[in-house]
Amino acid sequence: MIIHLKENISSDKAQELAKENAAILLQYQGKQVLVNSSSVKELSINLQDYAEEFFVFPNDMQLSSKEYLPQKREVQIGKQIIGGKQKNTLMMAGPCSVESEEQIRETAALLKELDINVLRAGSYKPRTSPYSFQGMGLEGLKLLDKMREEFGFSIITEVRDSTHIDDIIAFADIVQVGAKSMYDHGILRKCGKINKPVLLKRGFGTTLQEFVQAAEFILSGGNADVILCERGIRTFETKTRFSLDLSGVAYLKEFTNLPIVLDPSHAMGYAYGVPDLARACVAMGVEGVLIEVHPNPKQAKSDASQQLNHKEFKSLYSDLHKVAQSIGHKII
Ligand code: PEP
Ligand code: MN
Repeated sequence: MIIHLKENISSDKAQELAKENAAILLQYQGKQVLVNSSSVKELSINLQDYAEEFFVFPNDMQLSSKEYLPQKREVQIGKQIIGGKQKNTLMMAGPCSVESEEQIRETAALLKELDINVLRAGSYKPRTSPYSFQGMGLEGLKLLDKMREEFGFSIITEVRDSTHIDDIIAFADIVQVGAKSMYDHGILRKCGKINKPVLLKRGFGTTLQEFVQAAEFILSGGNADVILCERGIRTFETKTRFSLDLSGVAYLKEFTNLPIVLDPSHAMGYAYGVPDLARACVAMGVEGVLIEVHPNPKQAKSDASQQLNHKEFKSLYSDLHKVAQSIGHKII
């Protein structure tokens, strides 16, 4: 249940009510809000005098649900807004990893030429093998910072674990929580306490319910700016790296109030399929797409097979504008 407390209630009283009702207390748009389990269907006696409004839900998708906020949440990224009534689809692009100043600057210059505002690149990589390139760490974050200063981008970069979460929070404009880290409650809880947007990727074995409940950890911490990212789930299929769950995206669009970003690069795993999949993603009318692009994909230190080269990306980007336009959206 979500309970909006009446305006004049002191924060001490609100905390007392939270404790008595096994609820989390958060602030949302100047209101004190209590959230407890969705199994609670009736307002308890001790809340009757203090509740302004309350909302009952069939399951623990509460703050994220359309039943609570029928309108999609707005998230501001740099000067741009996604969600709300905007029909914007935000392009977030860049290499899988920051590898060197030369490499990141080459792709940064391409994005600038195309008027793209969000640069993505990982510096702490959650690799499947300890012997693969693990990312440049802090040095890479500093290079991303340099690109932001030089080109005016918003930077999205991922947190791998708790050892560097404070650095990511300090350097990133959007904190990316990767598919392998989305069950890390330390990360989720910390992301709930920051005032920067968080892009939460769906784990490849995660149900939609679990995915949205992970978002609830961040929302219930008080951070309203959560973006869901579908990046492919594991199925019986082995010819592609993952299977992009567009049915799941239709579900998330219908039942949640959170902006949605799609990542065709990690889903497909092979550059040849990324343009087709990216066009399908934009046609879904989502709030953003995340695409990996590298100046020389064959030499990439991570995810080499799926990154587009600059020429491929440029041609795809021009197509995506047309697809977006055909459904009344705008690529920003
Ligand atoms: C990435 O964005 O480079 C990445 C590692 O993604 P995911 O967490 O979806 O595997
Ligand atoms: Mn990658």
